[in-house]
Parts: sequence; C-alpha cells; structure tokens
Amino acid sequence: MARTQNFDTIAIHAGQGFDPTTGAVIPPIYQTSTYVQESIGNLRGGYEYSRGGNPTRTVLETLLAALEGGKHGLSFASGLAAEDTILRALLAPGDHIVLGNDVYGGTHRLINRVHGAWGVQNSTVEMSDLAAVERAIIPGKTKILWVETPSNPLMKISDISALAELGHRFGVTVIVDNTFASPALQHPLAFGADVVVHSTTKYLGGHSDVLGGALIINDDELAEKAGFLQFAAGPVSAPLDAWLTVRGIKTLSVRMDRHCSNAQAIAEHLQGHRAIDTVYYPGLPDHPGHDLAKRQMRGFGGMLSLAFAGGAPAARAFAESTHLFQLAESLGGVESLVNYPSEMTHASVRGTELEVPDNIIRLSVGIEDMADLIDDVEQALPAR
Ligand SMILES: *Cc1c(COP(=O)(O)O)cnc(C)c1O
Repeated sequence: MARTQNFDTIAIHAGQGFDPTTGAVIPPIYQTSTYVQESIGNLRGGYEYSRGGNPTRTVLETLLAALEGGKHGLSFASGLAAEDTILRALLAPGDHIVLGNDVYGGTHRLINRVHGAWGVQNSTVEMSDLAAVERAIIPGKTKILWVETPSNPLMKISDISALAELGHRFGVTVIVDNTFASPALQHPLAFGADVVVHSTTKYLGGHSDVLGGALIINDDELAEKAGFLQFAAGPVSAPLDAWLTVRGIKTLSVRMDRHCSNAQAIAEHLQGHRAIDTVYYPGLPDHPGHDLAKRQMRGFGGMLSLAFAGGAPAARAFAESTHLFQLAESLGGVESLVNYPSEMTHASVRGTELEVPDNIIRLSVGIEDMADLIDDVEQALPAR
C-alpha cells in the first residue's frame, strides 16, 4: 500500500496530473465561463458554468484541502470573501461570535459593521487567556470562536487545541485564520479546529501578484452549506487567479524556511537596540508564546513587529527610511515589506479595542539575502 505523501510532495502534486489531451505537465488555465453539454443536462466532467465550478479552481481546491489535511477545500476571490461565506453559513440574526482582540482589521470590520448590521453580535477577547474566552461565550447564543494565531500585529500565540476543546464544550464552531503561519508551519484541523480560513493573497500565493481566499472544512454538511453559498452568491476565484495560487504553492515550503530564518536573524539582531523597546517575534525565547509556538508550529514565521522607544515619530521615520523593505500593506510575498499598522492595515480599527499603538511597525520579512535585509534595517535606525 502506498505510504501517505509528505507535505512538500503534496504541495507540488495534490490535485494535479498532466493534461490527458496534450500531456502538458501543468494543468491549464481554463479561461471559460461555460461548458458544452453532451445533451440537455448531460455534462462533460460535471462542469456546467464557472461560478459553480471550473477545472483550474478544482485543482486549487483539492490542493488546499490536502495541504491542511482537510476533507473539503473551497477557493474564493479574496480572504474576506471566504470569511463572509463561512460567517453566513454559520450565523443567523441574533447569534453571537467571539473573536480575538487583535484579529486582522478587515475581519473585525466585516463582522462588526457588515454582519453587525444584520443583527449578529460580537465580543472581542484576549484569545491567549482561556478564562476570558470562556467568560465571553454566551451559551446557546455564541456560534463561532474566531482564532488568529500568530496574531496581527503583535504575534500573540493562542492554544488551538485548548480553544477547540473549550469551544466544543459549548457547541461552538472553532475557526482558525491560518494566514500568518501557512499550512507549511501549522495545521489547525489536526489540533481540533473545525474550519481553517486563509487569505491566499499572502504566503500561499507568495508573490504579491494575486488576491484569493480559502476555506478548509472537514464536516460534510457545513462544507455543503458553504459550497452552496459560494455558488449562489458567486465570490469565486477566477481561473487565472487560481492558477497563479497553485503555482505559488509549489514553492511554499522552501519559501517558508527562508522567511523563518531571515525573520529570526532580524529579530535577534534588533533585540536590545536602544531605539526599540520590544521585538515581537515568537521565535525569541522571551516571547510569551514561544513555548506554545514551538509545540504548535513547525517554524516561527516571517512576520515580526517592533515597538519604538521614540514613539510614533521614531516608528514613522523608520518606516519611511528603509529601501529593501518597501512601505506597503499586505505580507507574505517574497519581497520584504514594512507597514505602519495604526495608519495602514489597522486604520479601520482605530478608536476600537483593537487599536494598535502608534509606535508599532510591522515587518513582512521576505526571502532576500539576510545580510542585505539586516543592512537595510540598520541604516534606517538611529546609530547605536
Ligand atoms: C489579508 C488578511 C485577510 C484578508 O484577506 P484578503 O485576501 O485581503 O481579503 C484575512 N486575515 C488575515 C490574517 C490577513 O492577513
């Protein structure tokens, strides 16, 4: 009997075989909206119309499920389109959702302002504090526990298996946004989570050239519901976008190795610099989530944040002085980016409990040469 394949092989092959008509090694971009039927209702290969299904998207969806060790994969036009779909599959007016107090700003905006307007209530809570999470759950009313680990931008680590167990005691569906770790470093379903969400725009795509989102679900009934919404509302990924994401995923593992080693080197280099109060990186032994991250993840990731001793002016000056680290939102691409959360990625949560201090800078460490990256941050800081 064939042994189950390992992750690095799955990332290159799952869902993909050569094209049977031409032998093309890479499955083609099926840039088509519709499909000729054999006779009325008699479909060739099950495809009828590309909102309902497209072979290039099927490749990506099969691959996503395999990467997370899940049963069903669904791919979307963006991470938020995926999030909106799973929220609507699980929530009705009057329901309640508990989410981390430092989730991605766009997730909070979607839950609070879009679903909030339809009568869905939410509470934000410190996810690494299990007692606080339990207090926030309203038995019978809370339907979702929304976990993001590592979190953004302070890289807090939450215990997925403990949260899954807690959520399940109250009949709550536990959803993990696995965007920051990627399936190369963390498998939430293996720790008991019910649903994994991704912005494939980030590490999975990996090259800052495509937007996308994903849901990976084990439960057949929930997958069916989410799949129905994907078809009925149409937030699907386009064929070219799905193809680019599949192409990016082939190098996910080797990219993540370099993201991790570069981020670790920069974190260690910057720790103790007089201009910086705190380096937030789970790979540092004094990070409060270090031991948990070691148990839960296969690497500490490519994201880190810095708190500047000189407050907002020092943080802003740094963000505008780096060269290799380009000033832009987003993360997870091969190129390094610097972000000033309080006015960029997290501007939408200003004035809420999710507000990010204005002395924080977030780095998405790319896979360039480590010494060049260290030179770049060093020249952007005041002399030691
Ligand atoms: C970017 C991001 C999202 C949203 O994804 P889009 O593809 O931008 O819609 C959700 N969660 C996290 C953690 C993200 O970084």
